[in-house]
Amino acid sequence: MPKEQDSTRLNYDCADEYHPEPSPAPEVPPWKTGGMRIGIHTSIAGDIALSLDRAHELGANALQIFSASPRMWAHGIGRLAAVDAERFRARRGELQLGPLVIHGNYLINLASPNPVLRARSVQAFHQEIVRAVDLGADYLVAHPGSFCDGHLQAGIAAIVQGLRQAARGQKLGGLRILLENTAGQGHSIGSKFEELKAILDACPDLPLGVCIDTAHTFAAGWDIRTADGLELALREIERTVGLGRVAVIHVNDSKTALGSRVDRHEHIGKGKIGARAFARILSHPLLNGRAFILETPIDKPGDDRRNVAALWKLAGKPLPTNKRTKKALPIAGVRRVRRVPAKRTAARF
Ligand SMILES: [Zn+2]
Ligand SMILES: [Zn+2]
Repeated sequence: MPKEQDSTRLNYDCADEYHPEPSPAPEVPPWKTGGMRIGIHTSIAGDIALSLDRAHELGANALQIFSASPRMWAHGIGRLAAVDAERFRARRGELQLGPLVIHGNYLINLASPNPVLRARSVQAFHQEIVRAVDLGADYLVAHPGSFCDGHLQAGIAAIVQGLRQAARGQKLGGLRILLENTAGQGHSIGSKFEELKAILDACPDLPLGVCIDTAHTFAAGWDIRTADGLELALREIERTVGLGRVAVIHVNDSKTALGSRVDRHEHIGKGKIGARAFARILSHPLLNGRAFILETPIDKPGDDRRNVAALWKLAGKPLPTNKRTKKALPIAGVRRVRRVPAKRTAARF
């Protein structure tokens, strides 16, 4: 009966059809909106969660912190109280800051030929990983290390082994460990991108990436002041570690000259690299999507705010909005911002 067949067809509801559960989409961190991410290293003094408000109130939408004192070995287990980590994660969610970058302790030297120092470094690096995971960090930045009176190759092998030992048994979740290029002072490893590549290549089992520091790159001999010099450096990074593994750029001007191998950070536009070079770096298509994090000095009050403002301006991007006041952040030097009472907006140092 053709009529009945027709009505069956009309009553067919595709919602009744069996649909297998779709496989979950890969988790995208909420801060990955595709917009520009500009951050600054902020203090954890008083309460680690205050670092988030400090970054936010300075006009940053990303940040870097130390998760403990950077020049002391942690006592005991070196873990954060669960309640503090929870509070930190909640506040970060409210302020929509990301990525969260943790910079490792300066005393850690996985390349040390001294067995006691090295063992201590492995343990401290393990604690860095544990704290970074607890805080929900996206990246943990580490200086590769210094081979001191040993040999470069032995130093690289020690770093590779040390990274594995430190990460053993620890679920990293979304955390990636980024090796930072260095200025090449003393016997520090990582001023040549090949050295970073050697470590990455030896650890395919670990979620490793790279952090490029502009001041270190310049001090190591790459003349990123000019468009051609920047292209050369980027080509070398692509040839060695691969630009795809570069997740964070430390944006610092340099007090020291090209090739000095001395690491001294300067305010954006006030050093030997200069503002024009930073405008080029911030808008370079090959660096699109990276987080740009300042580690500039605070010589006088407001330097941090001015450096954050300088980056937004050089990037040609509007300032993010203060979540609390719903107003554009009061950053000096940026014309379109209206004045708001200082009390409500001053950084809480
Ligand atoms: Zn560093
Ligand atoms: Zn750096």
